[in-house]
Amino acid sequence: MDMLEIILAKRFSQELSAEQISYFIKGVTNKSIPDYQISALLMAIVLNGMTKQEMTELTMQMAFSGEVCDLSQIPGIKVDKHSSGGVGDKCTLIVLPIAAACGIPIAKLSGRGLGFTGGTIDKLESIKGFQTSIPISSFVDQINKAGMVLSGQTPELAPADKYLYALRDVTGTVQSIPLIASSIMSKKIAGGADAIVLDITCGSGAFMKDEQSARDLSMAMIQIGKIAGRPVTCVISSMDQPLGRAVGNAIEVMEAYDTLGGKGSKDVNEVCFTLAAAMIRRSDIGKDLSFEEAFAMAEKTIQNGSAKISFEKFITAQGGSVHKNGSPVYTERPVVCAELTVKEDGYIARLDALLIGEASMHLGAGRRQKGDVIDMGAGISLVRKIGDFVNAGDRIALLYKGAKSQIDKASISHALSLAEASVELSPLPVPNPKEILAILDEDSL
Ligand code: URA
Repeated sequence: MDMLEIILAKRFSQELSAEQISYFIKGVTNKSIPDYQISALLMAIVLNGMTKQEMTELTMQMAFSGEVCDLSQIPGIKVDKHSSGGVGDKCTLIVLPIAAACGIPIAKLSGRGLGFTGGTIDKLESIKGFQTSIPISSFVDQINKAGMVLSGQTPELAPADKYLYALRDVTGTVQSIPLIASSIMSKKIAGGADAIVLDITCGSGAFMKDEQSARDLSMAMIQIGKIAGRPVTCVISSMDQPLGRAVGNAIEVMEAYDTLGGKGSKDVNEVCFTLAAAMIRRSDIGKDLSFEEAFAMAEKTIQNGSAKISFEKFITAQGGSVHKNGSPVYTERPVVCAELTVKEDGYIARLDALLIGEASMHLGAGRRQKGDVIDMGAGISLVRKIGDFVNAGDRIALLYKGAKSQIDKASISHALSLAEASVELSPLPVPNPKEILAILDEDSL
């Protein structure tokens, strides 16, 4: 087989065969295909798309390009949850303890953040002593102890995706539904999931900027899941403004802990209960429940305190320190370094998630480049959200740095100017945005 032939076939919009896709992924994994040919094919896929069959083949080839987790020792349907990324997205920290409190065994592999989006592993590392490298051979033990386990992805998992993603990042080929869908689904399949719940974020702080693109991506992943025998539910959620009140690492864990303690904001509660309900309905215990019944089951774990207990057990089982009252001990203390105030009266009409995410990254909460060290205490807390009325001089956000951080004044004022640019006021009332835009599954195909 010849790589040039494969590139030309896609350039002329032909459907690639299973053999051609397998040849391509094997060549990516064993590094026998040069980057310029890989990049040419990626660009042809961006421009000419892929059929359902091609996308599924690409996903499965990437999923089996390295180590595949075997979770068969854990009884029952293993339901995984994944987000396509966002700003202030602390849902995993809330949804998994809820699902575990309902009796669903949870084994999840999570990633780190890059750029303006945060990663669950980074957030959890803000807890003193918390271990994020749990060998798969210890998963069953951890689940027996705490009902759930969460670990960082190993480099051996879907290595073809890792290589392709790095190349896509520098060749303008990230934004492509077949490439994003196969990238996410390959990692979920390699991670051992039987069923998958995907939070597809949509808006300025997400990969998918509009609802139609989020729907198209969802349908592609549901289709791949159907052919691959891994049922998928997609929840399309809004990411025009950051989710909840906190953006950062320690401050997001604090918000997640408050939410588990019944003090969650309306938007975080709604997105988390919806995702948890979708997980419950995909599990052994909830397959006969209606969406409303599963939602109520999720809500109940907050009211009766069982989700909070689940979270505390999970933290201690993975080596994290907790205070006597069960709340986590953090490695860094957030201190306010600037305040964002408004200059006039009005209703908040825009609170751009991308700009807030970038501001938080400049404070040290995220990595501008791979290898950057994160300040666990840095971030932004939003005092007001879209739809709120504010008077001139009101504070709408607080900017934080870690107590030990050496951040310079110029970086803080750059972050503050990004945060300022995220805000737009309107003299007229602005409705609160809808959090959940759609829930899609195989019945939507
Ligand atoms: N997240 C992934 O894992 N892959 C993509 O291509 C985009 C988002």
